[in-house]
Amino acid sequence: MEKIDKLPGALLPWFEDNKRDLPWRQDREVYHVWLSEIMLQQTRVEAVKGYYTRFLEALPTIEALAVADEELLHKLWEGLGYYSRVRNLKKAAGTIMDRHGGNFPQRYEDVLALPGIGEYTAGAICSIAFGQKKAAVDGNVLRVVSRLTENDTPIDSPAYKREVQAALEAVYPEAAGEFTQALMELGATVCGPNWKPRCEVCPCRSFCGGHLHGTAECFPVKKPKGDRKVEERTLFILCCDGRYALQKRPDRGLLAGLWQFPDVSGFLDAAGAVAAAQEFGFRPVQVLRQSEKKHIFTHIQWNMRGFYMETADVSDGFVWMTADEIEKNAALPTAFRQFWEDRNV
Ligand code: SF4
Repeated sequence: MEKIDKLPGALLPWFEDNKRDLPWRQDREVYHVWLSEIMLQQTRVEAVKGYYTRFLEALPTIEALAVADEELLHKLWEGLGYYSRVRNLKKAAGTIMDRHGGNFPQRYEDVLALPGIGEYTAGAICSIAFGQKKAAVDGNVLRVVSRLTENDTPIDSPAYKREVQAALEAVYPEAAGEFTQALMELGATVCGPNWKPRCEVCPCRSFCGGHLHGTAECFPVKKPKGDRKVEERTLFILCCDGRYALQKRPDRGLLAGLWQFPDVSGFLDAAGAVAAAQEFGFRPVQVLRQSEKKHIFTHIQWNMRGFYMETADVSDGFVWMTADEIEKNAALPTAFRQFWEDRNV
C-alpha cells in the first residue's frame, strides 16, 4: 500500500517526543502488556488507569491470576463492562500455568490460541513485549491508514483488515513495540474517531492523502450497521431493613455470573410492579419511586424501569446484602449499578 512505508520514519521520532505517560508504559513485562491491552478493549484510557493499578496490586502475577477467586475478579472489573474479558484472562492464565510451565508463550500462534486473545491483542503483545514484527490492527489503525491512503473499502471488511496488517508488517522497523504503540497513539490522540483530525500537528501531514486533498473526514468508510435489538425490562430495587435483594445472573450469556436486582421483561406500571414483586414472594409495603435508564451493549439496548420499594420481610431465592456488602463484595455491572447509585436521590 502506497504511503505505508513512510510511517515508521514519521511516527517513531514523533512518538518518542509525544507519548503519554501511562501506567502500562513503565515496563514491557508481558503480563502488564497483556492486562492493559485487554482492559483497553472498548474502554477509554482514562477509565482503565485506576483499574489497571488496582488489578495488579491484587493479582501481581499470572500465577496469582490463575487461582484468583471469581468474585474477586468480578469486583476488580466492576464497571469496566464486557466481563467475559476478565473470565478469559483467568482461563488464559490457567492455560499458561498448565501448558507453558507458567511462562507466557512467545510464538504468535501460541499467543493467539489463548482464551480471549484475538489477532489485534496477539499482535500488540508480540510486538510490544517481545519485539516481534507483528502489527496490531484495530479500528484506530484502520482509520489512520484509510485516511492516509484515501481507501474507501469499508474498514469492517476482514479482507481489508488482513491487507492493512500485511502492508504494515512489510515495513515494520526493528523498534517493533514502539511502532505498534506509535500507531495506536496517533489514532487515539491526533487522528481520532469522533472529532476533526488534528492534521496540523500530525507527523504524517506531508504525505497523507486525506490531509493533502482535504478528504480526511470522508474516511473511514463503514458498512451500514444492522439495527440494535431493544429490550424493555422492569427492575426491583427492594430494601428490607437496610438490606437489598440481589440475585446472581446465570453462568452463561450476557453479564454471566454477575449480580443484579430482580427483574422481569417488559415495562410494568406501579400497580403491575407491586403485583410482580408479590409473585416473587415479597410483601411490598411502599413504592418509594421509579426511574428509567438505558444501557447499550454491542447488539442489544436495554430500556429499564426501576422501582424502589420497601418490603415487609425478606424472601427466599434472593441474597440480601447491606449497602456495605454490595460495595465490597458484589460485582454489580453498570446496567444495574446506575440504579443503585441513584437510590438516595
Ligand atoms: Fe490523520 Fe490528518 Fe494525520 Fe492524515 S494528516 S493521518 S488525516 S491526522
